[in-house]
Amino acid sequence: MTEHADVVIVGGGAAGLMAAVAAGQAGARPLIIEKNKKPGVKILMSGGSRCNITHNCENSGIIKAFGPRGKFLHSALAGFTTRDTVRFFEDAGVPTKIEDTGKVFPVSNRAHHVLDALVAEAEQAGTTMAFLEPCLGIEPEGDQLAVITGNRRIVSNAVILTTGGLSFPGCGTTGDGYAMATRLGHTIVPTRPALVPLALREPWIAEIAGLTIPDVGLTLWDGAREAGKSRGSHLFTHQGISGPAPLNLTRFDASWHNTSALALTMDFLPGAQEAELDAWLRDESLAQGRKLLSVVLAERVPRALGDRILEECGQARDRRAAGLSRDDRKRIAGAMKGLRCGIARHLGYEKAEVTSGGVDLREVDSRSMVSLKHPALFLAGEILDLDGPIGGYNFQAAWSTGWLAGTRAAARAAESQNKSHD
Ligand SMILES: Cc1cc2nc3c(=O)[nH]c(=O)nc-3n(C[C@H](O)[C@H](O)[C@H](O)COP(=O)(O)OP(=O)(O)OC[C@H]3O[C@@H](n4cnc5c(N)ncnc54)[C@H](O)[C@@H]3O)c2cc1C
Repeated sequence: MTEHADVVIVGGGAAGLMAAVAAGQAGARPLIIEKNKKPGVKILMSGGSRCNITHNCENSGIIKAFGPRGKFLHSALAGFTTRDTVRFFEDAGVPTKIEDTGKVFPVSNRAHHVLDALVAEAEQAGTTMAFLEPCLGIEPEGDQLAVITGNRRIVSNAVILTTGGLSFPGCGTTGDGYAMATRLGHTIVPTRPALVPLALREPWIAEIAGLTIPDVGLTLWDGAREAGKSRGSHLFTHQGISGPAPLNLTRFDASWHNTSALALTMDFLPGAQEAELDAWLRDESLAQGRKLLSVVLAERVPRALGDRILEECGQARDRRAAGLSRDDRKRIAGAMKGLRCGIARHLGYEKAEVTSGGVDLREVDSRSMVSLKHPALFLAGEILDLDGPIGGYNFQAAWSTGWLAGTRAAARAAESQNKSHD
């Protein structure tokens, strides 16, 4: 069965829903084709089900956070800024708050309030949504495109591809859009999981599973090369580490396909100098010699971690603080400032918050999100070769690129309609 639609949006996630709002408000009648039985599944589970909608910063802060490819976002952010995100959700009945880290959340801490508001806005803008209808392919038909599903063929002058990446495949994101984009002439920059927890080689990690440290400085090593640094909160898990600082570290380019040369160093006191720690240990050793060394360390790091540091430095857990040699002090201060662990592996797409890689940005016009391979194709969201750090950056990119794609797709749909009436 062949049907016609103004604007077809393939994928009803963050970017697709926002594209629908923009297209509808610009006068088009958007149709969302979604493979799941409901939209925005990933929004619901985001930010620990609180949904970190954006970051409290200027557009330049978002662009910088995305690294060298961030400049692709200039136009999209100019049309839908971080302030627009906050205003959009507040106007839609979701009051927001800024946390100390700069992350913006709904005051209610409920991701479903964000999703409900977005869906309501899309519906109010005249969007039709088809669920449990996976798109199987997109075929060129002259200047138009045909979106193929199991039960229909929808021909349109403007198709927006927002199928996301490969992370958390249980959410419906199984990379389907890459094959569709490739079929239309696009190149896919090789993908890999990013913002993903790490398994470490050291078996002792399991002993301190559950320990959270609010501020750790991490350095990623690829052999002798320093591949990147991150800082922030850090959680020890049964297998390794998770939390913002470790997750952000996985965005850096390194030999993730073969981790034998990968290691990281953990600075548990990023605000202190090693010399200062050395002097502190010397003073404690002299003044509090009868104290257990592990009790002394517990003044600066959690006790369980301090015990582990002592073991790594060849010190018994029950040793007293008295008589610390210069070498002992150097080793302990060094481990507090740079404990080294081998990286066994990352936990893969199953546990990754985003996909690094995707549709090559050089093949998309950043001023309109239109494909440079087909005039009826628009792309937005995580399907693009863009990934940002933890902190609301990825949703901001999805909202902004979705908004721009929706606006421009509606304009193309209107133009094509006018032409056909002439
Ligand atoms: C656990 C987790 C927590 C996160 N928390 C945050 C956070 O707090 N803040 C933040 O900024 N980012 C967060 N992210 C990242 C953020 O969710 C994504 O970057 C964002 O959702 C990308 O939007 P998108 O619309 O491009 O893709 P998605 O939101 O992934 O949407 C893609 C949609 O396309 C549909 N689809 C796929 N293939 C087809 C097909 N063949 N036919 C029809 N439909 C299809 C999918 O079912 C899905 O609904 C988190 C990610 C995860 C996994």
